[in-house]
Order: sequence, then structure tokens, then C-alpha cells
Amino acid sequence: ELIKLSKEHQHDKPVVVSSKIPYATLTSILEKIENESSRLKIISILSQFFEDILSASSIDKLIKIVYLVINRLGPDYEPDLELGLGETLLIKAISEGYGRATSKIKSDYKEVGDLGLVAQKSRSGQPTMFKPQPLDIDTVFANLTQIARSTGKDSQSKKIGIINKMLTACDPKTNEAKFLIRSLEGKLRIGLAEKTVLIALAQAFVNHEKKHKVHADELSKAEDIIREAFSQIPNYEVIIKNASEHGVFNLLDHVRLTPGIPVKPMLAKPTKSIGEVLDRFQHEEFTCEYKYDGERAQVHVLPDASVRIYSRNSEDMSQRYPDLISIITEFSKQQELHSMILDCEAVAWDRVQNKILPFQVLSTRKRKDVNEKDITVHICLFAFDLIYYNGESLITKSLAERREVLYNNFTTIEGKFQFATKKDSSNLDELQLFLDQSVKDSCEGLMVKMLNGTESFYEPSKRSRNWLKLKKDYLAGVGDSLDLVVIGAYNGRGKRTGTYGGFLLASYNQDSGELETTCKIGTGFSDEDLTNLYNKLHPTEIPNPRPHFVYDSTNSNAAPDVWFEPSLLFEVLTADLSLSPIYKAAHTEYGKGISLRFPRFLRIRDDKGIEDATSSTEVAEFYERQAHVN
Ligand code: ATP
Repeated sequence: ELIKLSKEHQHDKPVVVSSKIPYATLTSILEKIENESSRLKIISILSQFFEDILSASSIDKLIKIVYLVINRLGPDYEPDLELGLGETLLIKAISEGYGRATSKIKSDYKEVGDLGLVAQKSRSGQPTMFKPQPLDIDTVFANLTQIARSTGKDSQSKKIGIINKMLTACDPKTNEAKFLIRSLEGKLRIGLAEKTVLIALAQAFVNHEKKHKVHADELSKAEDIIREAFSQIPNYEVIIKNASEHGVFNLLDHVRLTPGIPVKPMLAKPTKSIGEVLDRFQHEEFTCEYKYDGERAQVHVLPDASVRIYSRNSEDMSQRYPDLISIITEFSKQQELHSMILDCEAVAWDRVQNKILPFQVLSTRKRKDVNEKDITVHICLFAFDLIYYNGESLITKSLAERREVLYNNFTTIEGKFQFATKKDSSNLDELQLFLDQSVKDSCEGLMVKMLNGTESFYEPSKRSRNWLKLKKDYLAGVGDSLDLVVIGAYNGRGKRTGTYGGFLLASYNQDSGELETTCKIGTGFSDEDLTNLYNKLHPTEIPNPRPHFVYDSTNSNAAPDVWFEPSLLFEVLTADLSLSPIYKAAHTEYGKGISLRFPRFLRIRDDKGIEDATSSTEVAEFYERQAHVN
């Protein structure tokens, strides 16, 4: 096997004439991405690299490379593949691996705020007696997987042992040590969005398959296909293998919904009034359902009769919900149920008074190692959609048809399994009453959905205008709460001394991958919240803003006292949005950024990742709709 890098990358490393791909080849690409702010250039760097690997027919290696680039070792839904080792362990490993005192490593770390750089510096300063066997992709991937999987009492020393070996093998003339440590930390810090990786993959496949010059519309078609395939099967191995075997343009004929693999859930757009809903669905048939306030639960029954439950974020929550597993297992015993994917909201339920309990109660439920007999917070599952049933995907059936299959094959068990309460009406007064009733019944408001035709198909991963949410509490503001990334904080004064007194929040620009500042927030926090947030965020402080933070660096009011490595989302309310001289959300569209006025903290959103934050485009949409109404 001969792996030749294209001309563009040849100067990075000598052409590789072996079946191994040096780890340094990958880290030089990561370095380029880190130093590049143009998203188009990043896509081009990545797609060229992926294409080189494809040309060498190294499908297996391409899969590993893609995972290393997104700092994962397998699909999100597979447990025990998380990296994210603590700094104490890594400091110990660097110290042992490179023979430097931990105190030195610690003081360097304090100075530069990046253990990767500290490792790199330690490596360069260390004399090398002999040249060790260079690291390659397969070895690094296998070692990282072993580290992620190792548990038990000896696991710490085992992990350090593996890391030490790898650190010693890092070539001081490359940046391997830097990226290796960052990977282990679970913080690659190159600001690369998953969407960018999918586009780069699509381009790589098209360029690889087509000999002639590729048309822009071919590229965008391939991008749509890869994105659609990934939203149905978020698994790079399945996508890459099928695209390479059948061609990227035939991918969707081969990648099918599969119970056991979570589908990226369909999402809704916010609305501010029933009037707005009626405008949108003017000539269409639609249906309203209660919007339950719990946790999204995608329930899978596999052909082997096992049951799994996935979160909004595709994480396997089966361990957390043994009670739900029992309910579903009962169902599948009673009927001819071989396989299914059911979209539900899991809601806390008061078994004495037979009613829904608020989300706050659900959030007190234990998250790990739940024993069915110890459960105190009971759950009722409210089913609102059926995506797959007995071997058949239903996503290209209308909602009316999907519902029919759901209603015909399942029955209500009060307080355990119920259908989402619904009303099919387009009468304004009736809808108003239904909205009020939903709130009396402890729901957040309504979900309004297209009922018939192709527009009512289930659209995995899309925030679709065919699903609208109408949240009663937020109708007075912009119609919804926003989920924003915490990128900085201000030191507390007076009563708040010793914790942070306020935070700098940012929206996520889905096109550029940048985090654009939207507001400073200091309202809505209890003293307890502030203490907890300090403990949570203090370890993520970084000395300088990351290159993908967009803030006004010319204005001394715009920078916070401390910056954070992005890790946390706040759900916040706002009175309204306005164009701002300081903040930057959607600034490329408006010249000025949009900011939140009188923001108020509601809670931490730990079921969402950074890329699930409210996007800058959504902030702009909120702003536009507000202007339209005023
Ligand atoms: P938020 O939960 O704050 O509204 P989100 O981004 O998680 O934000 P949205 O698209 O805004 O999700 O709202 C849809 C969410 O509402 C779903 O993810 C689901 O958890 C919940 N939900 C409750 N009842 C329903 C229902 N009848 N149909 C669809 N989703 C529902």
C-alpha cells in the first residue's frame, strides 16, 4: 500500500511509502486548521487530506482519522469512548514521560494555559538518545481507545503507562506531543465544527469519484446526501464504508434507519403568538400537541428484543431509565413488536395525584446506575411520533399516517405510557383555549405540526418550520428562551466576591463555527448557583480568548475578566433583542451585532453540546420577527 500525499501537503511531511500513516501527518493538518480562520480554507485542507487517504484505499484509516479530527473514538451513542482525562493525571504523565518535575509542568501550565503546549515544550527541551519508532494513526487510535476503555483500580497507572510510551515516541521536531495531550484532554482546541467535517467528507468523495472538473451543484448535492445520511445514522464508519462501496450519490439507498442507532431528532422553530402560527399554516392542515416539559427520549426496540433509550444528544440513557425499559419490554411481549424507534418526552409523574410534575423534579432523578426498586421520581412517557416500526422506516410518511400506526399498535397505560394530548383545529379561539389548558396541565405550551403531505415527513436533525413551538411563558418576550455558550466571566464584587458576578455569553455561528458574543448576564442566579458555577467553570479558565471567539477587541468594555474553554450552555430569557455597539451575534449580516436586553438566567442546559447552542442565524431570526411585529 502506497500512501502519497497530494502536492499541497507534500511539504508537510515526506511522501509516505508504507501502509502506516504517521501521526505527524495528521497533526500537521490539525495545526493548519488551528491557524486558519477561513472556513472555506479549512474545508479545503480537510477534504484534500481525506481524498489522499481515499486514493490510497485506506477506508479503515480514513474512519480513524475522521474520529481523531473530531476528538472522538467512535459514535456519540457508544458508551465508554469518551476522552477527557483530568489535568492531574496528564501532568503526572508529562512529568514522568519527559523527566521534568511536576512543579515545573504546573507553573508552565499556569503561564500558557494549555497542557498540549507544555508537553510540546517539554518534549523539545528533552535530549533524545535514539530515535523511537514513530507514532502512526493505527497505534494512536488503538492506544486512545484502550485508555478510554480502561476502568478499575489499576486503570490510572495503566493509562499513564500507555501515555508515557506515546509521549516518548513523539518526534520533537513535530507537534505530535501537543495534539496528543490535547486529544487525551478531550479538548483539541482547533474550533472545528462537525458540519465542516461532513462537508469536507462529501467533497473528498466527489473529487475522488469524479475524474472531470466537479460542478458546484454536484458538490452541494453530495453535501446534502452526506448530511442526510448522517442525521439518520450518525456513525462515520457506516457512512464512509457505504459511500466508498456504493458511491456517495447512492449513499441514501444503502444507509437506512437502524434500531440501535439513534436518529438525530427533528426540532421545532419558535413562534410568538397563535396568530403567527395561523399565518404559517394558513392553507394547510395542522395539529397541535401539548409540549411536555421533560427530557426527550428516543426509544428503540431492537430485533433481539432489547430496548434502548437515547437522549436528545444521542447518548445512551438506558441505564438511567430501567423503569421505562420495563414498560416498553412489556409492550413488546404483548404484541407483535419486532423493532421500532419511538419519539417521546419522558416526564416526571406524581403517582398519588396522577399528574405531571415539573421539570425541576425530573432533574433531581439519579443519572447513573439507577435501580428500579429505588426509584422515587416516577416517569410517564408521552409518545408523539413513530419513526420506525417493524422493519419499516416511517420518516417519509405523513404525520397523520405515522400517528395511525402509533395509535393502532400501542395502548395507553395511565401514568406510564400515554400519547401526547392533541387537538386538530384551526380555530383561533379553540387554540387559545388549548394553549391555556396545556399550561394548566403542567406543560410548557403547544407544539404545532404540519399533518399531511410531504412537508409533514419526519426530518431528522432539522429545526423545521413544519414543527412550531408556542411556549406560553415566553410569549411576552421573543417567543422562546435561548441556549448560549458561556465563554467568559466577570469577577464578583460585594456580596458576590469569591465567585463570578456575571458571565459573557455567545451564540454559535453554524457557518463559520465561531462563537459570537451576545450579552453579559448577571441576573437570575441564586448564591448557590454562583458557587456551583464557580466550581464548574474555574477549571476551564484560559488565559486568552480562543481564535474562534468573536468579540470587540477594540473596546475595553467588551472583554471579560476571565475567558473559558467553551463547555457549558445557559438557558436564558430576554425582554427583547437590539443592535449593539459591543456584541457580535450575526454581525456579518447586520454590520453590528445583535444583543439580548435584560437577559435572565434560567438554568444550565447540560443536554446540549456547544454546536446545539442557539445559532447566530436563530438570534437574527428572533430579531427580525420582533422588528416585523413592532
Ligand atoms: P427547548 O427544549 O428549549 O424547546 P430544544 O432545542 O431542545 O429546545 P425544541 O425544538 O425547541 O427543542 O423543542 C422541541 C422539544 O420539545 C423536543 O426536543 C422535545 O424534547 C420536547 N417536546 C415536548 N412535547 C413534544 C411534542 N408533543 N412534540 C415534539 N417535541 C416535544
